Amino acid sequence: MRDTIRKWLEDGVVDVFLGYKAVDGHVIPWIFKKSELDELDAFCDGPYRYPLEKMAREILQEDEHVRVGLLARQCTERAVTMLQALQALDRQRLWLLSRACCASPGQTQVVCSALTCHETSADLTEEGIPEGTSIQALEALQSDEKFSRWMYEFEKCFKCYGCRDICPVCVCKECTLQDPELIETGSLPTEVPLFHLVRAVHMAGRCIDCGLCEEACPAHIPLRALYQKVGLVVRELYGYVPGQETVPLIWGPLSDGELETLASGM
Ligand code: SF4
Ligand code: SF4
Ligand code: SF4
Repeated sequence: MRDTIRKWLEDGVVDVFLGYKAVDGHVIPWIFKKSELDELDAFCDGPYRYPLEKMAREILQEDEHVRVGLLARQCTERAVTMLQALQALDRQRLWLLSRACCASPGQTQVVCSALTCHETSADLTEEGIPEGTSIQALEALQSDEKFSRWMYEFEKCFKCYGCRDICPVCVCKECTLQDPELIETGSLPTEVPLFHLVRAVHMAGRCIDCGLCEEACPAHIPLRALYQKVGLVVRELYGYVPGQETVPLIWGPLSDGELETLASGM
């Protein structure tokens, strides 16, 4: 991988390459340049996760001539596809260097793709919704229990905006979550459940199921399950899976059998 990046930079295929570098024992996103090829010695290609595509987008926006190389896992590729669909990224100046994903715990092979990769199902004996709870386990609950468990989770939120800031497809110039007429900034408690329902509605047809928001949430709210749920609704209604180029925008509802297959893979 280092050799490919080196060649891309030396041959001028790209002007910069966005990947990861170990600095003082910490792996952080890094912009590798041709003038600093020695930096590639510290390049890392392990299971590190930041929204690199969001950073690449900003670099491309700042300089209309720069060509950017990007280390791309499967979720990165889905995010790039989604950003293209949102007309939020100049794909002509972006080169992806694909990197295989790691298998999820308990899996022997990688099955990561929008709405199909999920961790093991957690035990629902506690209050709220433990991280890792599957959609099937949630769907099996009665409506009032589902409601009270989600409210328990939403009330833990302290409106840090980390879920939005790390999200690769949250790229709006003005974010509704900071619209003072709807959600006040700098005040607590969080508007429950408005804050989360607004974001969930926005993620329907947009979330590419990378899970970064859930990893980033300091309150350990199971955000991925929430957005998977709205994603399933969109798929059921329109057959659309965000980030998958091959699926047309309007494709008609899925059959019961297709929905069962979909749910059993999660
Ligand atoms: S899983 Fe979370 S961070 Fe990833 S695209 Fe969906 S909402 Fe954004
Ligand atoms: S939360 Fe909604 S309004 Fe805010 S950046 Fe994301 S999609 Fe845009
Ligand atoms: S990251 Fe968690 S605590 Fe922060 S705003 Fe999002 S849901 Fe709330």
